[in-house]
Amino acid sequence: MLAKAMKILKHYYGYSTFREGQENIINNILESKDTLGIMPTGGGKSICFQIPALLFPGITLVISPLISLMKDQIDALNSLGIPAAFINSSLGQREVTDRIRDAGRGRYKILYIAPERLESERFREIWGALDISLLAIDEAHCISQWGHDFRPSYRSIAPFINGLPNRPVVTAFTATATDEVISDIVKDLGMKDPAVYIMGFNRKNLSFAVVRGQDKKDWVLNFLQNNSGRAGIIYAATRKEADNLHGFLSKKGYPVGKYHAGLTDRDRLKTQEAFMYDDISIIVATNAFGMGIDKSNVRYVIHYNMPKNMEAYYQEAGRAGRDGDPGECVLLFNPQDILLQKFLIEQTVSSPERKAVEYRKLQTMIDYCHTTGCLRQYILQYFGEQAAQQNCGNCSNCNDETELCDITVEAQKIFSCIRHMRERFGSSLVAEVLKGSQNKKVLRFGFERLSTYGLMKEYTLKEIKDIINVLIAEGYICVTEGKYPVIRLSPKAIPVLKGEHGVMQKVQKKRVKPEEDETLFQLFRILRKEISEKENVPPYVVFPDSTLREMCAFLPIDRESMLAIKGVGEVKFQNYGHRFIEVIRAYVNEHKGM
Ligand code: ADP
Ligand code: ZN
Repeated sequence: MLAKAMKILKHYYGYSTFREGQENIINNILESKDTLGIMPTGGGKSICFQIPALLFPGITLVISPLISLMKDQIDALNSLGIPAAFINSSLGQREVTDRIRDAGRGRYKILYIAPERLESERFREIWGALDISLLAIDEAHCISQWGHDFRPSYRSIAPFINGLPNRPVVTAFTATATDEVISDIVKDLGMKDPAVYIMGFNRKNLSFAVVRGQDKKDWVLNFLQNNSGRAGIIYAATRKEADNLHGFLSKKGYPVGKYHAGLTDRDRLKTQEAFMYDDISIIVATNAFGMGIDKSNVRYVIHYNMPKNMEAYYQEAGRAGRDGDPGECVLLFNPQDILLQKFLIEQTVSSPERKAVEYRKLQTMIDYCHTTGCLRQYILQYFGEQAAQQNCGNCSNCNDETELCDITVEAQKIFSCIRHMRERFGSSLVAEVLKGSQNKKVLRFGFERLSTYGLMKEYTLKEIKDIINVLIAEGYICVTEGKYPVIRLSPKAIPVLKGEHGVMQKVQKKRVKPEEDETLFQLFRILRKEISEKENVPPYVVFPDSTLREMCAFLPIDRESMLAIKGVGEVKFQNYGHRFIEVIRAYVNEHKGM
């Protein structure tokens, strides 16, 4: 059976090897055993149930809560030449009836449905009449109240299975690996003696970085300058932050969209589509954005604020690099983020036990932002996995991309000024005094008479504030809570003031981007976009970035070499292969002898 599965993998999907875990899962399903697969976002779960679906005699029902994704998933399947359809509330009554009739006639191998469909009496009869070989429950953690997106309709899956004349093989998939959620899934779905496969949570192609104490807007601008044309998501903690950053980047002329719960459904859909179709490359969003996002060529995910916990962080960051090509995940940390998250917990959680849990999780997130060890190892350990190496070599703590810069003297000046101002003012006023500004407030308090007045006049105000932020981030200065936060010295600052300890700041080395010839890749992108528009499917459904990159590397110019490219299966070759070969031929001709 596995040989057949391999054949399908190559023929339809254009891949020559299974990923870690896929093979075991598929094998188990093909032996008609219930199976629970736990794999990270981008791990490749779809293939785990789609390949058995093609090998089993009847139809496979896929239960998915993500209505917004279904159309894309079906487009992707159809573009591979796999007969599939979906039924959800976006369809009219006519279409639903047509599709059910077609399903009854065996027109589809795979049918995606929303869980709500299992609740109605009328539909139950219809499903009973189909020859269902396999049931795949996607996002299975939705069944658990312990999970983060509980969906009551998932509770109707078990009664639905019991009501079927022949029990199909039951499989479930999720990215949530906690014990409570796993046992809820097995119990509440009525899975029979299931094999549970937990795939490694490590995403090798993602790099992780935490940036502390830097001006976030400056940092983002600089990053975008170095990453123009690449798709990315910037997550902000609140709508207000998202609006603000979106406005700022739009003004600077970046092709950026905005997504949060305060916008109309229509606006959100428009933005999402523009992003999927590569019409805009940047999205600024709150955590409302993502569940329905399947775009595989997201090259970076920036967290403009620290999220509430590691689960949320890893899930959101994990939206980068689903196609297996490198993805950058950067978290911009500022101590204000802690206050913001605490405020959000107080606002949204009422039960004291739950609150305690949320605070504990928040602390783990804060610790992540401050650890000096390998970030990947920290993440994997959090999810109960042993990291293969102490140093991954691909995170901001393992890479030596920073230089140490001595800021002891600046720190002493700042600490001394805070003291002279009796630790009763915010960072802006402290900076004004150090700058020697004639600001009204400075004069009103007579601060121009302080010995620290104008002590840092050769710096800009912004530079002084940036250094203060570094000192806050490194725990030398604490910020009080409340509407008008005041800065105070922490015990850690005292030895510095006394000259017993120095302060070093980590600064990012200037990055030199390797010169790559992007011409061919850009030509491919243009062709891909053209096909995407004609066929009304997102560009990454035509071919993911990783496939285009392989074409750039291997320059296939005939059927055989094209089919050897990862992601080029038979049907895709027939539909698009020649057009890409044409582009390569022209390119090679033009560059001959160079
Ligand atoms: P998720 O687990 O998030 O649902 P998907 O099933 O969407 O992940 O797969 C993520 C990406 O990985 C897709 O672009 C898919 O085509 C690719 N992929 C899956 N399996 C393989 C494989 N064996 N070889 C290469 N790429 C694969
Ligand atoms: Zn590391």
